[in-house]
Amino acid sequence: MSKKYVYLFSEGNANMRELLGGKGANLAEMTNIGLPVPQGFTITTEACTQYYEDGQKINDGIQAEIMEYITKLEGITGKKFGDLENPLLVSVRSGARASMPGMMDTILNLGLNEDVVDVLAKKSGNPRWAWDCYRRFIQMYSDVVMEVGKKYFEQLIDQMKEARGVTQDVELTADDLKELAGQFKAEYKSKIGQDFPTDPKEQLMGAIKAVFRSWDNPRANVYRRDNDIPYSWGTAVNVQSMAFGNMGDDCGTGVAFTRNPATGEKKLFGEFLTNAQGEDVVAGIRTPMPISEMSEKFPEAFAQFEKVCKILEDHYHDMQDMEFTVENGKLYMLQTRNGKRTPAAALKIACDLVDEGMIDEKQAVAMIDPRTLDTLLHPQFDGEVLKKTPVIGSALAASPGAACGKVVFSAEDAKAWAERGEKVVLVRLETSPEDIEGMKAAQGILTVRGGMTSHAAVVARGMGKCCVSGCGAIKMDEENKQFELSGKTFHEGDWLSIDGSTGKIYDGAIPTVDASIGGEFGRVMGWADQYRRLKVRTNADTPHDAAQARKFGAEGIGLCRTEHMFFDADRIPAIRRMICSDTVEQREAALAVLEPMQQSDFEGIYEAMEGLPVTIRFLDPPLHEFVPTEEADIELLAKDMGKSVAEIKAIIAGLHEFNPMMGHRGCRLAVTYPEIAAMQTRAVIKAALNVQAKHPEWTMVPEIMIPLVGEVKELAYVKKVVVETADAIIKEAGSNMKYLVGTMIEIPRAALTADEIAKQADFFSFGTNDLTQMTFGFSRDDAGKFLDAYYDKKIYENDPFAKLDQTGVGKLVDMACKMGRATNPELHLGVCGEHGGDPSSVEFFHRTGLDYVSCSPFRVPIARLAAAQAAITDEK
Ligand code: PEP
Ligand code: MG
Repeated sequence: MSKKYVYLFSEGNANMRELLGGKGANLAEMTNIGLPVPQGFTITTEACTQYYEDGQKINDGIQAEIMEYITKLEGITGKKFGDLENPLLVSVRSGARASMPGMMDTILNLGLNEDVVDVLAKKSGNPRWAWDCYRRFIQMYSDVVMEVGKKYFEQLIDQMKEARGVTQDVELTADDLKELAGQFKAEYKSKIGQDFPTDPKEQLMGAIKAVFRSWDNPRANVYRRDNDIPYSWGTAVNVQSMAFGNMGDDCGTGVAFTRNPATGEKKLFGEFLTNAQGEDVVAGIRTPMPISEMSEKFPEAFAQFEKVCKILEDHYHDMQDMEFTVENGKLYMLQTRNGKRTPAAALKIACDLVDEGMIDEKQAVAMIDPRTLDTLLHPQFDGEVLKKTPVIGSALAASPGAACGKVVFSAEDAKAWAERGEKVVLVRLETSPEDIEGMKAAQGILTVRGGMTSHAAVVARGMGKCCVSGCGAIKMDEENKQFELSGKTFHEGDWLSIDGSTGKIYDGAIPTVDASIGGEFGRVMGWADQYRRLKVRTNADTPHDAAQARKFGAEGIGLCRTEHMFFDADRIPAIRRMICSDTVEQREAALAVLEPMQQSDFEGIYEAMEGLPVTIRFLDPPLHEFVPTEEADIELLAKDMGKSVAEIKAIIAGLHEFNPMMGHRGCRLAVTYPEIAAMQTRAVIKAALNVQAKHPEWTMVPEIMIPLVGEVKELAYVKKVVVETADAIIKEAGSNMKYLVGTMIEIPRAALTADEIAKQADFFSFGTNDLTQMTFGFSRDDAGKFLDAYYDKKIYENDPFAKLDQTGVGKLVDMACKMGRATNPELHLGVCGEHGGDPSSVEFFHRTGLDYVSCSPFRVPIARLAAAQAAITDEK
């Protein structure tokens, strides 16, 4: 049997997400449970994949199948496509497997042409409605299908409103709208060079193609990369008979959540617009009324809607985000999905659902997106300064968090300013999906128009980004890059602070303080800790960072980069002396100055970690990173060392490397200057002995890590220096303290010879930053310059430095684990590259059988949760 590409809503169900997309599967499920859904059908994600395989064409077979389902839909509705008696109008909407709000396209009222619109106008006795539908259809179709920019049509509407002396779209009459439809079609013809299509079948195929094409639009590509959604999934298309919210004052359209998506409060939350259609609510063109007011205007439909909300929550065991329409007082459900929510709301909802007996603890852990957690941990405004700062405006608290930055007026500027290191607040009349990259780059977003479900609000919440929306008090002048608020004119570059938790706007910059973590966070993390197998350590180089990470639940330090301690102003002269020494004695003298400093650093870190394991990595970067570049500093060093400026310059020139990342760094330094490794060993061991003496209740087992090993003999050589030095000190102290010597696996050759290396190592820690760099053969510092081209051309979907390349680098990790454990069954395995805090990579490390992951302090909770989710998935 040939493949089935189209399913009636009545043929699907919620488990068919992969094929029908989220929207299609849920429309089918709502149909099955008897909810009022305008009927329709779903064209599968496989049809989308086929469309791309066929060179962006819908092949004849699929076209025929679609038309067969139009006939079926005609049978179900009793209406006919393009008919002059009882015409069928449909919406065409995208629906990927994972919801991508606002990222792809929607077309409403498809099936209209001059003849059909006349029929509708006459039969309904409501010509205003009929012409409103038609002008909307032309507008959406032109924008989506033919990519004639929206703005041309909006300008025409604005001109019409001005000419009629009205401010709202709803005040335009049937004749005005008819005239507008004519103008729109003329605009279409002038841009495209052809008449606007009148044949509904042609319209339908054009619309379906456009939805398939929108899977590949730039904003969808960015959204997918940010949300780990594979390009290969494709989108489904839903063709649904229209229910009309724009037929008059007993009609309307709304968007609602069963619980508050900002706070998690168990209370219906949403917005409603009378006499409106589709995107009007989210587009922010008119400011809608709160959903509670709907109960007064439409008591029956509201009562029914409340029942539907309860049914859906009980059915899906999660907070639902729904779209609906009321047509002549009757409710129609257009969509339901698990609602996007702020991280704080996600935690509260998960806990509440457990308490309500709707889900168990494992399900609660599994339903939280680990990537969003760090926004909870990020700073808020300093309360003291906040109290003293006058509020200059207030609007909707659309997405919580504090943001402070310089005002910019366009997404492009936000991106450009952020790239050069500026913090910016993006101030817009309203945002649209094209603004996504600018929103990402900004600290926060402030909009003049739009409600809590406006695009800006929904997208910002999804990103965990601060957003204040709908500040009507702002007099915006985007063209001249300025706005007025509270009697003050703000120009591009002026400082502004906004609070997405309160909706308040402040003049100037307000400093921020660390966030405090609420009870629900602790509860969910407690559950996560019960289920995970992977330990979670942190990468920390200072007692402050170590203490911070402990608060976030770190179970040790997986990477302490000792070179960071060498850059302090009081240490750099000694390290420079060490580098410019001519003899071992001179070098040892310089190192002797550094040793007590390093020792006290390590003691501070050991204290902060309260006896938990700490891996200290020996000096890694090339020495030239430490030498002076400024003339004055060079002169100072020359004087300090009794050398001439020319001699120092010659030494510095001698350190120059063409490719320092592949140069004299890592264990290569210890091979050439073993006295560096000896000094660092003394500092580590003495610090551990001191801390052990102070805290007999702790069992100190220092872990020394040798970086950049590619050959077992390198490791053996450096290890010998470490062991001889450490043993002598421990013996002299009369202690029996144990210590471990391990290595990073960050050079492909180390992974390839892991069986040999493991014989010399107590542990491996995968340095996936370097391992990625050296496996791909491109620089971790420079790849950003060309990776965008690789994303555009679909060569890579993600930054391999952020998300582990499981196919290539992952294969090396997996192989090294197996080979290492084969020759050293006691080998302890961890990862300390950036990937240790990336959820999908953590899942891979779990599967690969590592013992722990190590990541930056703020990502520790993310890793804990991701590790628990990996373990829970593994169980299934
Ligand atoms: C690594 O290479 O993954 C690593 C953790 O070391 P660094 O980032 O310091 O090179
Ligand atoms: Mg490295």
